[in-house]
Amino acid sequence: MFKRILIANRGEIAQRIIRTCREMGIETVAVYSQADADALYLRQADETICIGAPPGARSYLNIPSIISAAEIADVEAIHPGYGFLSENSHFAEVCNSCNITFIGPSPESIEAVGNKANARALAKKAGVPIVPGSDGPVPDEAVALRTAKRLGYPVMIKAAAGGGGRGMRIARNDPSLVSGFHAAKSEAEAAFGDGTVYLEKYIENPRHVEFQILGDQHGELIHLFERDCSIQRRHQKLVEESPSPLMTPELREAMGAAAIRVAKAAGYHNAGTVEFLVDKHLNFYFIEVNARIQVEHSVTELVTGLDLIEQQIRMAAGEPLSLRQDQVEQRGHAIEVRINAEDPDRDFKPSPGRIEMFVPPGGPGVRLDSHAYSGYRIPPNYDSMIGKLMAHRPTREHAIRCLSRALGEFIIEGPKTTIPLLIKVLDHPEFRSGDHDTGFVARHFGVTPAKVPIKEAR
Ligand code: ADP
Repeated sequence: MFKRILIANRGEIAQRIIRTCREMGIETVAVYSQADADALYLRQADETICIGAPPGARSYLNIPSIISAAEIADVEAIHPGYGFLSENSHFAEVCNSCNITFIGPSPESIEAVGNKANARALAKKAGVPIVPGSDGPVPDEAVALRTAKRLGYPVMIKAAAGGGGRGMRIARNDPSLVSGFHAAKSEAEAAFGDGTVYLEKYIENPRHVEFQILGDQHGELIHLFERDCSIQRRHQKLVEESPSPLMTPELREAMGAAAIRVAKAAGYHNAGTVEFLVDKHLNFYFIEVNARIQVEHSVTELVTGLDLIEQQIRMAAGEPLSLRQDQVEQRGHAIEVRINAEDPDRDFKPSPGRIEMFVPPGGPGVRLDSHAYSGYRIPPNYDSMIGKLMAHRPTREHAIRCLSRALGEFIIEGPKTTIPLLIKVLDHPEFRSGDHDTGFVARHFGVTPAKVPIKEAR
């Protein structure tokens, strides 16, 4: 087992990884940008190294800085967390060539699934249903128009290198397809340095259901059941839960097997997620693979009792999987909400600044993963998530009541947060019924958020 790991990330996930390392007796080296000098995770690590200026490109995305830090600190492995360099196959390759273990899949697997147009082809070849769409990338307007004609409107234009909901456009007719095609291309070029786009049929109000997978380096692959992430705002997840309220044993079996087939086709090891959309008739369609630990991994931890960061570290160290598929249990119901420093009354504008008072909730069934504290100044340079609050109870109804109660206890003074909106989501009869879809937030809260009476954040 490794003695010392560097964490190439910040905030909540850096802290999350340090916690597991501590329990495993592994020393941690935390890196930080000048904007994060006051961060809590730095107090929890064994060693800290400043790697550069606040902009991501000059710190958390700066490969030479991170590798130098790893060499100075003499670590054996790097955990990339999520975001930043976590799905950068070049970074994984650089780690390997410096004899530092990259805690994640191989550079080849990251490459195979990182391009979403490639991943679709891979899934199709593995016999997994994909959303009807273009055969690979769409090079120009003419091909886009021909493909849309074949699929029928509405269609979605998606960036092959996409992530975080960027580079995505819905088109309902020829003119909006042409403008959306160029808009998605330039957005993808700016965000990912790759303007490749492809087309998918737009599925009206689907469910988002994903499967957590885990594989060792000896060819064993299992799944850890599903997460339902249908509560989204602008294609970004706000609420995640497991089990999915729409799931039947047959569908779970079929989707779990499909997830494993995709992972096998990519020669995948370590932790990953295979994402699907599910339509009203319970048909499922592969959309993409996330080749990293995800924000919402903790929901799976609660229902399976496994520590996914520990599993990642063990798999990266070459250990065989310690459990078989039939030994993985799904116990009770877990729900997670993402608490962002954003103002729901001002179209979710980021609300950075100093947290004057931070009093976290507690009690039975509650878990909070947060790097925030009273007096913490949220830097404006990074994403606005300040914590994930979760409830784990025997039933869905109980988990919702528990989480709503915990959100009500939470005191965050200073920045605006999404807490008031999240309480409304959890209390909404449609969410409570479990019969909701990805259109929920736009339908009930999204379009004119300023007009929705939202209780003041406490
Ligand atoms: P990203 O990688 O940017 O997160 P995804 O491909 O994972 O993008 O899609 C994010 C979300 O966008 C999905 O969860 C779903 O809500 C929506 N979406 C993606 N593709 C489609 C589609 N073909 N039809 C309808 N909604 C879609």
